[in-house]
Amino acid sequence: MLLIKNGRVLDPASRTDAALDVLLDGERFAQVGANIAAPGAEILDAKGLIVAPGFIDLHCHLREPGQEMSETIETGTRAAARGGFTAVCCMPNTQPVNDSASVTRGIVERAAAVASVRAWPIGAASAGSKGEALAEIAAMKDAGIVAVSDDGKPIATARLMRQVMDYCRALDLPVIDHCEDASLFAGGVMREGPTSIRMGLKGIPAQSETICAGRDVKVAGLTGARLHIAHMSTLGSLEYVRFAKKSGLRVTCEVTPHHFTLTDEDVRYDTNYKMNPPLASRADREALIQGLADGSVDAIATDHAPHHPGSKDVEFDRAPFGITGFETALALGLTGLVHPGKISLMRLVELFTMGPARVLGMERKIAAGEPADVTIFSTDHAWNFCATDSPSKSRNTPFDGRAFRGAPMATIVGGRIVYRREAAARA
Ligand SMILES: [Zn+2]
Ligand SMILES: [Zn+2]
Repeated sequence: MLLIKNGRVLDPASRTDAALDVLLDGERFAQVGANIAAPGAEILDAKGLIVAPGFIDLHCHLREPGQEMSETIETGTRAAARGGFTAVCCMPNTQPVNDSASVTRGIVERAAAVASVRAWPIGAASAGSKGEALAEIAAMKDAGIVAVSDDGKPIATARLMRQVMDYCRALDLPVIDHCEDASLFAGGVMREGPTSIRMGLKGIPAQSETICAGRDVKVAGLTGARLHIAHMSTLGSLEYVRFAKKSGLRVTCEVTPHHFTLTDEDVRYDTNYKMNPPLASRADREALIQGLADGSVDAIATDHAPHHPGSKDVEFDRAPFGITGFETALALGLTGLVHPGKISLMRLVELFTMGPARVLGMERKIAAGEPADVTIFSTDHAWNFCATDSPSKSRNTPFDGRAFRGAPMATIVGGRIVYRREAAARA
């Protein structure tokens, strides 16, 4: 038994915000209450810290199988644990693509053997994510996928998207949508605007994402499927999501920490600023923050996309898209959203817990009988992120060296402490 004492329990599912103890028995919560006595239990003192339900990341790339130079299930989930995540959903653009039950089973088995946190695979929508025939979606669901996506690539036609959604509606799986109009994207490397012109880098207009989001909201209306917009970065996409929610469609969305933190004006000739979708305009960022505040956005997701140092150490045009994200996500949320008063602490916790859980059709709460996944964090621990300290195999982040206030202090998965920041846990 493990007793978390003296913490401030913040649980969005029950709107709890109170000084409470939490008792864990094996893999589940046993009791939540004031001054719990549990003789013989291991004590974790959470004085001055927030005790939240375990964080869920809806969007990451663990690179296994096939790209183990950049990341593995083992290294990626260790980085996730350090970021306070207790469950991460891994995208299927591995080698081979996770488009069949055998690949899904391989990921599930590998995760059971080596992962620090829960790794929930996402299956491809189309075979090989090639945008032609459907993948083995039903068989992958039986093998353990929690959603379907061709992330990394858009689904090129409304017709194929309709087929994917029809299938996923029958199976009650969310379709996670990487929104991009390839004809507008057209080899761009950053957001089109005054900065791309000044830097001489080929731009991608916001409409590349927005047009696709609008199309797919309409296809969700046609099919009744659950549509989740990945890494939403534009005001235009957000307006479609708001329209969809108002219309009663089952449409949800996520925003990454880099998109609510940085803009295209921050881009330098440094490939750690190259991601897809690209960093957006200031107006887009303000709109995303508004959406995070008012409930239009359902989740913060990292899109952790590790690339081994060699592959990013090339010209901007030639570098792959993507940055790592597990270990900076919470700190960026606290530093960029909560401390300046843009959203409440409860809302931030919701965006990491109940919000993503509901996208997956699950619940997430601290209550007797529920799985004992807990994220314990400080809102004011001062630290500097150092990419070379990361257990991830990759270092591609624009936040290396950044000073933060607030950090994960302990991560508990199924009753087991998988990460603990020692200095602060004593504070
Ligand atoms: Zn994507
Ligand atoms: Zn991605």
